[in-house]
Amino acid sequence: MMLLEHDAKALLGEAGLPVPQGVLLREGEPLPPLDQGVVKAQVPVGGRGKAGGVKLARNPEALREAAKAILGMTIKGHCVHAVRIEELATFALEAYLSFTLDPALALVTVMLSPHGGVEVEDEATRGDLQREIVPLEAEAMRAAVRRLAERMPPELRAPMAQAGEALVPAFLEHEALLLEINPLFVRTDGGWAIGDAKLVVDENAFPRRPRLVQLIEAQADLYPEAALKLAQGFDYVELDRQGDIGLITTGAGLSMQLIDELVARGRSPYNFCDIRTGQFRGDPARLIQVMRWIAAGPNIRSVLVNFFAGHTHLGEIARLLLEAREAVPELTAPLTARFIGNGLDEARAIIAAAGDPIAIETDLERAIDLAIARAEPEHA
Ligand code: GDP
Ligand code: MN
Repeated sequence: MMLLEHDAKALLGEAGLPVPQGVLLREGEPLPPLDQGVVKAQVPVGGRGKAGGVKLARNPEALREAAKAILGMTIKGHCVHAVRIEELATFALEAYLSFTLDPALALVTVMLSPHGGVEVEDEATRGDLQREIVPLEAEAMRAAVRRLAERMPPELRAPMAQAGEALVPAFLEHEALLLEINPLFVRTDGGWAIGDAKLVVDENAFPRRPRLVQLIEAQADLYPEAALKLAQGFDYVELDRQGDIGLITTGAGLSMQLIDELVARGRSPYNFCDIRTGQFRGDPARLIQVMRWIAAGPNIRSVLVNFFAGHTHLGEIARLLLEAREAVPELTAPLTARFIGNGLDEARAIIAAAGDPIAIETDLERAIDLAIARAEPEHA
């Protein structure tokens, strides 16, 4: 997951790297008493500058205007709920520096370019991008930085080598997948500072990274999905608040497939869900939680359940589904379950004994068609 710039800079600053001073301002909070600064949208995407999400302000009035304009803006589908207000940096040049991990090969691509800033992907300057692929290892990465820096214009060689070498431990320490500094501000005196930081961390490393976990848990409003996953141990994402079909599914792949199938039929599903049936351990808590979230959707008319029981048992899943349904009476939409795998007969018997509150299908197409039909207004 990508950290917000404000947090990436906080972590880099804690590691002693030169980061301009900045404060986070959330929607609705009073503006800090500053005379000037750069106001930057805190959304986990690049290209904020080009989208109008980065504004320089040279007086308090301009600062207020900039914060007002950027808060509430939507950039690449992300609503801006917070901005970072940072001291204005003075610099002569904007350079580019990044480390990208290939996790399958444990190789890191080190990239340096004398042309950073918002135009870094321009054809005109792409030829100046220098890269090397080296093992995920501090000394190899530092050596690559030094070699690449030698291919930069003379005034950039020393600052870029210093910056790159200083960033290697931060990249390794946070088990990053990507650390991109763009722009890397370089001053005429050879000093440098981190203009923007894109830090993508590996969620699988969280059990070893308490500082990252703490950052996310303390700001659940800014990292809703990651905070949820940390708290619940499974993935749930609201896709379309107006969607009319809720999904209770296990396995990210199965859930994505279902979303594709529904979208191909012109539907807009409410949510993505990888509930991980293997971790139920006889407890309906996860099902109850997901049913509550789905019940909160304003237009939910149908719920599609899709469980493949490989090392789990559909009999147990059916029992837990009934228990969860009892616990969430506000979920009034009909449940259609596509069950396949171990314990199908037992699941059918359990649902039948309860008066068939859940329609069971084994065929995926039929389950999808039925769930869609049950979402139609005439069905009610
Ligand atoms: P991105 O577009 O999401 O990558 O956002 P950046 O943080 O990279 O900001 C975009 C551009 O804003 C940078 O390339 C700079 O040109 C400019 N910028 C950001 N901070 C400052 C600053 O403190 N001073 C000045 N003069 N420009 C800045
Ligand atoms: Mn940038």
